Amino acid sequence: MPDDARDIRKTHFTSDIGPELDGKEVVLAGWVENIRKLGGIKFIILRDKEGLSQITIPKSSSRVFEEVDNLGKEFVILVRGKVRKMDKAPQGAEIIPEEIKTLNPAISPLPLDPTGKVEANLDTQLDNRVLDLRRPEKTAIFIIRHETTNVIREFLIRKRFIEINTPKIIASASEGGADLFPISYYEKEAFLSQSAQLYKEQMASVFEKVFEIAPCYRAELSRTVRHLSEVYAVDVELAFADYEDVISLLEDLIYNVFKHIKKNCSKELTALKKQLSVPKKPFPRYTYTEIVEKLQSEGIEMNWGEDISTQAYRKLGELLTGAYFILDWPTAGKPFYILPRKDDPKVCESFDFMYSWLELASGGTRVYKKGMLIDRLKEQKLNPISFDFHLKTYDWGMPPHAGWGLGLDRLVMILTGSENIRECVLYPRDRDRLTP
Ligand code: ATP
Ligand code: MG
Repeated sequence: MPDDARDIRKTHFTSDIGPELDGKEVVLAGWVENIRKLGGIKFIILRDKEGLSQITIPKSSSRVFEEVDNLGKEFVILVRGKVRKMDKAPQGAEIIPEEIKTLNPAISPLPLDPTGKVEANLDTQLDNRVLDLRRPEKTAIFIIRHETTNVIREFLIRKRFIEINTPKIIASASEGGADLFPISYYEKEAFLSQSAQLYKEQMASVFEKVFEIAPCYRAELSRTVRHLSEVYAVDVELAFADYEDVISLLEDLIYNVFKHIKKNCSKELTALKKQLSVPKKPFPRYTYTEIVEKLQSEGIEMNWGEDISTQAYRKLGELLTGAYFILDWPTAGKPFYILPRKDDPKVCESFDFMYSWLELASGGTRVYKKGMLIDRLKEQKLNPISFDFHLKTYDWGMPPHAGWGLGLDRLVMILTGSENIRECVLYPRDRDRLTP
């Protein structure tokens, strides 16, 4: 830090200021939210990560009074002054400054009104993300995201899961999908990983209970409000378990996340004008077949075996407004590593976890016998030789296992009531956006 910024140091956040500090000297630091002049008094509204404080400058403190005129919105300032009890001010106290130091000015006009009074469209907001995030209803989304990650991690660790990190640069398609990003890797071609799937399964044969919170990459061709190219996924894999076990685990986890956010993020939920209700356990469970029938009876044209279209999901969202599971999907439409049902192999032990119209997670019981896995690869027109690195681990003592992948960005969408996934990611990556 330069000397002029170092000689007085921030002592308090705005949220620490209250009437009980009446008469005490403090140093606040932050950004100028607003400046107002009322007759012989000037006010600076100072913002920091915790909120707002009112800095009141009477004419009698003549030097500081003059200096206020040199300040502008979003200037970074240090304010040294005395706390004064004041019922009408935020937190019931204001600061009477003895010294105001500008650490850095900001341009005027700014490309975006940080107070949000002049509404900008989402693209302009994202183009100027740092300024956009100076608004409490924007930071609220990321505080909720932070709390969500935290509570997920704590929950899984409490259940004796081990957190792992799997590679994001891979040699071949983990699921054979076309939605991979190729990258130039020394003399070779490599890919960005689309999921932790195969690696987490391998690690279930070592640590039994594993999870990962990490990005995965999908070259999604369509432009939707729920798809990004860089996605944060919570991946879980559990040995000696089937899909019923991991469905209960996910249900418990989601219940805990909602409860935690409702209890601990009331300030953020209020800023977002979001009423969060904790879903009741057990969450409803429907089979894929039941869902198809439901949709058909609502006039949606689809045949058994087909994927559920976006339009059909929107219809489902009208019928089912909260959390629910869709079980037993057609085997042909699910990846090769999902176990077909023994009693009815055209469906498999798979599930999607839904919230209203939005898929939040997919999971299932995995194939754990090497022979069957090779057959399933062939059925899906994949070449077992390119999966050799994976298949060989099935000769080394592979336990039965099950797991799921949960989209963190989509979960945050639901928790914050955001209409577009881009609002829930600091710097979203999609087909059209690679900066900032
Ligand atoms: P969708 O059918 O909605 O495209 P998916 O079934 O292809 O999703 P999965 O492979 O099941 O996705 O991934 C697990 C979870 O990761 C999804 O349920 C979703 O929450 C999230 N997810 C997957 N792809 C994306 C994406 N492109 N953008 C945002 N989230 C995603
Ligand atoms: Mg899915």
